[in-house]
Order: sequence, then structure tokens, then C-alpha cells
Amino acid sequence: MQATREAGDEVWRAWHDEAEPIRVGVSACLLGAEVRFDGGHKRDRYLTDVLDANVIWVPVCPEIEAGMGIPRPVVQLRGGEEGDRLVVRGSGEDWTTRMEDWARPRVGELLGLGLDGFVLKKDSPSCGAHRVRVYDEHVKDGVRRTGVGLFARAVRDAAPDLPLEEEGRLHDPVLRERFIEAVFCSNRWRVYERRGPSRRGLVAFHEAHKFLLLAHDEGLYRELGRWVGRFGQVDDREVHARYRALFFEALRRPATVSRHVNVLEHLFGYLKRVVTPIQKREIAAAIEDYRAMRVPLVVPITLLRFLVHTHEVDYVRGQLYLEPHPRELMLRNHV
Ligand code: SF4
Repeated sequence: MQATREAGDEVWRAWHDEAEPIRVGVSACLLGAEVRFDGGHKRDRYLTDVLDANVIWVPVCPEIEAGMGIPRPVVQLRGGEEGDRLVVRGSGEDWTTRMEDWARPRVGELLGLGLDGFVLKKDSPSCGAHRVRVYDEHVKDGVRRTGVGLFARAVRDAAPDLPLEEEGRLHDPVLRERFIEAVFCSNRWRVYERRGPSRRGLVAFHEAHKFLLLAHDEGLYRELGRWVGRFGQVDDREVHARYRALFFEALRRPATVSRHVNVLEHLFGYLKRVVTPIQKREIAAAIEDYRAMRVPLVVPITLLRFLVHTHEVDYVRGQLYLEPHPRELMLRNHV
């Protein structure tokens, strides 16, 4: 199902009315599919009960699809001279080549569906994207937490810009907001691409995401601006590839409280001439409360958005920073 929005939200509609549904790849067991080695699942309620209304899930279970059955023996990553290998615990049966040979074309197929993100099961030797346990006799205690599941690695290699997270990390409000923001940005980037690349289109995309990018990394925002300026001067394909890579790199950088405060003050600057002294005082107080972490980000943002729309401050009204993802997800109520 597509993201919902209130009627009259022009900025959102300008990008999302013609967007394709948001498709997100997911480890099937997280949706409740009974595909684990013991026939169980690992349903994640945030995915199935909250995010579900905003995305179309594309479930995949690498171990089943690569040919392991249910039930199946437990597999693990084992350190080897040519990289970590996927082996059956106990017997040592090696599934590395079979998994890699299955994963390469399957990942290509999944990406062909137009994914805007991927949510993977933490700790899995196939799906885990961070700090998966690797059994390695060359390290102290015989275990290191540096592994990446074989399927997760195939996704990362094929699509380094694709927003990708583990369900465990999505329980952290900051990481959750960052991931979902990137998913919606990916969806808008595909709108831009479908409209047909043009200098005008790229300028509009860049402008609409200006304050969002500034909240993550001002240096990369400026670097992106330089790539926009090269449109028409160098190969357009190079401009797009570099812009896309840097854009998603910027979104992966943490949007800290101090960066948000800078952005809020910058936005406030556009309003100073039109708001009343009382409104001015209230905004300044809300920004200060957020800086001191007495209120979440949603408080100053809501005030600013209200005043921007009331006073029809056009330039700021076009900024997706004011609402980069659906309001009902309440992602900025906790950061
Ligand atoms: S973690 Fe991945 S491989 Fe394991 S059951 Fe879930 S989807 Fe299948």
C-alpha cells in the first residue's frame, strides 16, 4: 500500500503522487513466515504492524531458496583464508558456493522490482548485515563479531546505495528514522529518474532535499551541488551516478541534534520578517528546548511547518525536511 497523506500537502504530492509503491525487501522470517531452521519465525511487530501500511514487502528466505530445507541443520560463518564461509555446524558441510551462486542472480531479480530498501534479520550467517558471529580459530576465544551474512553481502555488493538495515537496529529510534527517511528518499529519486533526467529536474530534486541533506552533512550537500552544476558539461550518466552515490552516502551520515538545530535556525531565518514577536519567541523557545533535549524534534518542526504554511513562505514550503516521511509513523516523536 502506498504511503498516506493529508489532502493539500502539495510538496509531498508533487513527489509522491506519481511514485511507484514503496517496495522493501525483507528476510521472510521477520514477517512471520515459518522458514527458520526449526520451522519457526521471528516476526517483528514494528515491520508487520506499523511499517506494513506504508510499504509492499518483498520477502525472501535465502536458506530455503538456496536449497536447504525445513527443518535443516544450523549453519554458521567460519573464518577461512579466502574469506568467511557458510558451513553447517558440526558436519562442516560447506554451502558458500551454492549460496553465492543462488544469491547473485536472485539479488539482480529483486533489484529489478525497484526496491527502495531492505530489512534483514540480525545475527544470521545468511541475512545478517552487521557484526555476525564468525567462528575463527585464529582469534582469541575463537569467535569474532565482524561477519556479514552471505546474502546481505550480495545485496550490498550489487546495490551499495540501497538503504539497508537490520530489524534489531530499527528498534533504535535514531537509526529507524534514518533508514525510513532514506527509503522515502529512494522512492523520490526514482520519481526523478522516471520523469527523465534533466538539469531542471535534478535542480528541483536537490533543492527540495536541501535542508534534509544539511541535517546530515553540509560538506556533502555542497559537493552534491557541484555535481548538479556539472550537468551538461560532463557525461550525464556520470553526473547521475555520482549524485546518487553521494546523496545516499550523505543520508547515511548521522543527523545529530546540533545539525538539526543549525537547520532549524536556518529555516527560522526565513520566517523572522513575517512572524509576530510572540511567534518568534515560541519558535526560539522550541528550538532551544529541542537543543537541550527537553522535547523531541517533532515539536519545533511542527511549529515551523505551521508558520511556513500560514505565511506561505514558498521557498521553505518546498522543503521535504519539514516532512520527509509519513506523519503517522511518528518517527520524529522519538528523536
Ligand atoms: S534469517 Fe534469513 S535465512 Fe534465516 S530464516 Fe530468516 S530469512 Fe531465512
